[in-house]
Amino acid sequence: MKLEKEFPLVSAKIEGINKKFDLSDLNERKEYFFTKVKEEITKLKKYFEEGKTFIVYFLGKKNAGKGTYTKLLMEIFGKDKISHISVGDVVRDVHQSMENEEEKRKLLEYLHKNYRGYITPEQGIEALLGRNTKTLLPDEFIMALIKREIDKIGKGAIFLDGFPRNLNQVSYSLFFKELIDYRQDPDIFAAIDIPETVIDDRMKNRMVCPICHTPRNLKLLATKKVGYDDKKKEFYLMCDNPECNSTRMSAKEGDNLGIETVRERLEMDDKLIQKVFSLHGVPKIFVRNAIPLDQAKKLVDDYEITPEYYYEYDEKNKIVRTLERPYIVKDDEGMKVYSLLAPPVVVSLIRQLVKVLNL
Ligand SMILES: [Zn+2]
Repeated sequence: MKLEKEFPLVSAKIEGINKKFDLSDLNERKEYFFTKVKEEITKLKKYFEEGKTFIVYFLGKKNAGKGTYTKLLMEIFGKDKISHISVGDVVRDVHQSMENEEEKRKLLEYLHKNYRGYITPEQGIEALLGRNTKTLLPDEFIMALIKREIDKIGKGAIFLDGFPRNLNQVSYSLFFKELIDYRQDPDIFAAIDIPETVIDDRMKNRMVCPICHTPRNLKLLATKKVGYDDKKKEFYLMCDNPECNSTRMSAKEGDNLGIETVRERLEMDDKLIQKVFSLHGVPKIFVRNAIPLDQAKKLVDDYEITPEYYYEYDEKNKIVRTLERPYIVKDDEGMKVYSLLAPPVVVSLIRQLVKVLNL
């Protein structure tokens, strides 16, 4: 992404602080954020306490980590202050609602009151469920569904993930806050820049717990216990959640094919970011997942960089050894980069939030 000049790399490093934080530990993570962005967090907390909110249109490629970053913000500020709305989830919920008569009735009632457009709410649902492939799902319909989700949440800062989803919806997003009655609240366009190689590795090595559905990654985010399947000659992660009894995690079907299966979507996401960042009069935030190798020492601490995990099987003692090495990839321009763990990306996000809100 060619936005380097307008948005220089934000340093997460603070001179004089040498403590290494374990970013996978909740308490250490809290301490980490209070060390790195204490002043900014205090300002934002005060902002929320005064009853003020904002809406962030969160742009970035699929698997860029939008959900993860928002979850970390919720961890810092509280779920009552920050909400994450994923349009993909909203659409999936409609599929579920259709199986329940009461839910279905409520949804149609809402749409009859709140949706205006060229097709009926019933036709919209048919199109959404894919039963009527001739009718294209209108943007107005998706907007009514998002509005319903926001009504459910009530007042609070919102990170909207998956809207705008196409170029047409960009113009809708310019007036969206009026539509949902967030008139006095600022709206912000935030984008994540992430190398495609990282997305590809995230997809290809993802493993999910069949019980609690926690996602982990064999290469980039290991669990404490790792197993070895002697028959298949492969390593697997075991869920860390105490309630799951070290259940074997498994790959999601189709993930092994990697990034090429979502190529069209990735290109649209790229176009959306370019389009939004060419707009005037809207506040923008740009966070980067990757930093060039030669600038790493200056900008971040070692523990903020994503390591690559690999494993060795000790046949004699029947144990798996987890080993780490630096994870170095080429970004989309062919430059060698490190990928950052989620917390330092959130540090940059918080700093930029405070700046665009003029706090
Ligand atoms: Zn689990």
